[in-house]
Amino acid sequence: MHLKSLTLKGFKSFASATHLRFEPGINAVVGPNGSGKSNVVDALAWVMGEQGAKSLRGGKMEDVIFAGTAGRAPLGRAEVTLTIDNTDSALPIDYTEVSITRRMFRSGESEYEINGTKCRLLDVQELLSDSGIGREMHVIIGQGKLDSVLQAKPEDRRGFIEEAAGVLKHRKRKEKAVRK
Ligand code: ATP
Ligand code: MG
Repeated sequence: MHLKSLTLKGFKSFASATHLRFEPGINAVVGPNGSGKSNVVDALAWVMGEQGAKSLRGGKMEDVIFAGTAGRAPLGRAEVTLTIDNTDSALPIDYTEVSITRRMFRSGESEYEINGTKCRLLDVQELLSDSGIGREMHVIIGQGKLDSVLQAKPEDRRGFIEEAAGVLKHRKRKEKAVRK
């Protein structure tokens, strides 16, 4: 499994549709300060269901929508699509290529799609939860975040290991069942 591409439309500084293609192995995003490199990483976290504005380096969730510049009006929605190569069936879905789309409007509501079909956030989370690229984002370590991973409390460290081992999904389901 590897990330194939990312398409951003109205997400943060990416007002015009921008398509990024990735190759298997290590990919590097380079550019001057403020050119949007971290915004690309934010888009990855966001499309996979990130719910925390702070994790996305904003004050509120709507801050991910293009806010306008001197020469360009603000946009009403942000949309990101992540395409994942699933030829090794690492994701529990019967497609060799899986696209996840998240769309958000200024009202704050988000829509999710898997391969073009509307779904719930929970479906996206479950699809990714055994893949090692889940919502908890332990595989996306942003600028300045490395220290917090290294200094994690034992119980948080257990969470990282559980996610990597693919058991987090089952614990979350159990917690949900118990709450009902
Ligand atoms: P550095 O090398 O300094 O880390 P970077 O390439 O990671 O820079 P980003 O943090 O990704 O840069 O991009 C910052 C830019 O994105 C800023 O110019 C900021 O104004 C712009 N930006 C962030 N959110 C929005 C938004 N909602 N609408 C428009 N522009 C935005
Ligand atoms: Mg940056």
